[in-house]
Amino acid sequence: MFRSLHMKLVLIMLLLITSLMTVVGAFLMTSITDFYVDAFYQQMESVFGDSNPSNAAFVDSLRRQPALAGDVSEAVETLQDIVETRAGDLGIDSRTRNYYILDGATGQYLAGSDGQESFQRLQTTHNLLTARNSIASGSDLVGDASDITASYMDVAIPITAGDYNFIIYIYDNRDTVSELNGQLFLIIAQALLVGLLISVLLSFLLSKTMITPIERLTEGAERVAAGDFGSTIEVESTDEIGILTTTFNDMAAVLRDTLAAVENERNKLDTLFLHMTDGVVAFASDGSILTSNPAASQMLGREVSFYDYDALFGEQVPFRKILALQRPDFLSVELTAGERILELYLAPFSDGEDGGVMAVMHDVTAQRKNEEMRKEFVANVSHELRTPLTNVRSYAETIRDSEDIPRSVENSFLDIIISETDRMTRIVQDLLTLSRLDSGRADMKMIRFPFREAIESVCRAVELEAQRHGHTLVRSYGRTLPLITGDRSRIEQVMMNVLSNAIKYTPDGGTITVDAGVTGKNVWMEVSDTGIGIPAADRERIFDRFYRVDKARSRESGGTGLGLSIAREIVLRHHGTIALSDHSGPGTTVRIVLPIHQAEEQGHA
Ligand code: ADP
Repeated sequence: MFRSLHMKLVLIMLLLITSLMTVVGAFLMTSITDFYVDAFYQQMESVFGDSNPSNAAFVDSLRRQPALAGDVSEAVETLQDIVETRAGDLGIDSRTRNYYILDGATGQYLAGSDGQESFQRLQTTHNLLTARNSIASGSDLVGDASDITASYMDVAIPITAGDYNFIIYIYDNRDTVSELNGQLFLIIAQALLVGLLISVLLSFLLSKTMITPIERLTEGAERVAAGDFGSTIEVESTDEIGILTTTFNDMAAVLRDTLAAVENERNKLDTLFLHMTDGVVAFASDGSILTSNPAASQMLGREVSFYDYDALFGEQVPFRKILALQRPDFLSVELTAGERILELYLAPFSDGEDGGVMAVMHDVTAQRKNEEMRKEFVANVSHELRTPLTNVRSYAETIRDSEDIPRSVENSFLDIIISETDRMTRIVQDLLTLSRLDSGRADMKMIRFPFREAIESVCRAVELEAQRHGHTLVRSYGRTLPLITGDRSRIEQVMMNVLSNAIKYTPDGGTITVDAGVTGKNVWMEVSDTGIGIPAADRERIFDRFYRVDKARSRESGGTGLGLSIAREIVLRHHGTIALSDHSGPGTTVRIVLPIHQAEEQGHA
């Protein structure tokens, strides 16, 4: 009942009805008064007016007959008699309307349809004064000015009858109009009451047909605002509110779909943010952290959410400098966090007051390391090739420039030139092999072959060389080793490299033990020697390209420093491992582990 819209509607209806009735009432009442006043003056005109020829005799008699009277009272009587004859026409009813015959000079009551007291109660009106003035001035101007606002109507007619002067004064107290207006007021008040009642009823009806659907729409909107897009509002009509309800339902559905899409996108972004390898930190405009991803903490080696901008990157770039940037400008700096080298990109994410700074970190440690390795590699290659080339050139020049060089010396020089050329060829070949393995262009001819046979053939190949150095070659592997899948010649190349290293780096008369076996899905081969061993500091690096513990010794024995790196690449291509095993006593143990089946085969199995 007191819901605001409903209340407003009731109030509007009440105001409308009240104002309408007031206007109509006022208009009616004024019209009635107007009509009554008009009627009064017309009535007076019809009796006393000069324009009506039939009145002429009457008006004339008013002047003539009293003049014949012997004294005033007779004259008054005569005048009264004449007026009485037209009392009916004048509407004299002695109640609301009376006539008075007054003395023209003093305005004193002489006679009338009502007593003297009643006249004395009346005030001196404008019309009365007009008539008295007429008599005084000898004119016959009638006082017949009408005043709708007055509470009475009157006409004062000056009569000059011979020596006598009279005023015929007709006075209407308007009681009839007041009564009529009173009645009308009553009727209007009743109508107003009924109208108000109807308006209240009507507002109820309107509330049912208009406000209730609007309220339902409001409730629906509130539900949608609270995030409940599931429920739809029932459409009960086809009018504008019905259309609005349908449109609202459609809008809610579109909103639901859009929100679902946005949510989906956000989830995607969240997942991306969470799992991306680049570290991301967003800072508010005061430098505090808004959000960060796990990669950021990992890269900086501390939980970034505990810090602010100044603590994290303040040293690199002042916060204000980034805020002053205009999108899409950004700043990039490199920083080191522990062992990592990070590329830091800093950009403002909004130009407005609520803006902030987005920091993206990219781990370039591996990249830098690779660049470093590449540079080192190129330097190594140049160095490795330059040494034999210098040798070749100097020996060739010696032969050319020396005229009486003995044949034997010349031959030994030529041998050196040939051996240096061979060395260069080996280096170039090894580099080619590595390059092929790196680029994946080296095709692996995967076949199934007995692992034991491969070891046997390599051992046989190095047997002579071992004997030459007085080494004892011990084969301690059993008879039963499985067939494995792999590129036999390349695997044999790996075995050969490891075995020849053992022979090379063991002083003459040492023992070289070859062992092999199966663990789970893998086969392994171990080559142990009693040689010079590898210092702990170099153990990590001996698989790097051109890395040699003792350069001179390696070169002396024809090594290129690429053998173990090629071996590692081949083993990796077979999904195996090659590493140094812990070794008790002097010497070295290298262990090669290879899967019995290769990945594609395992997939089949
Ligand atoms: P190289 O051609 O010089 O032998 P490798 O790549 O085969 O190159 O070996 C790298 C280095 O590892 C060698 O120069 C050597 O110093 C060291 N090394 C390899 N095997 C052994 C071993 N069995 N004993 C001692 N040192 C070894």
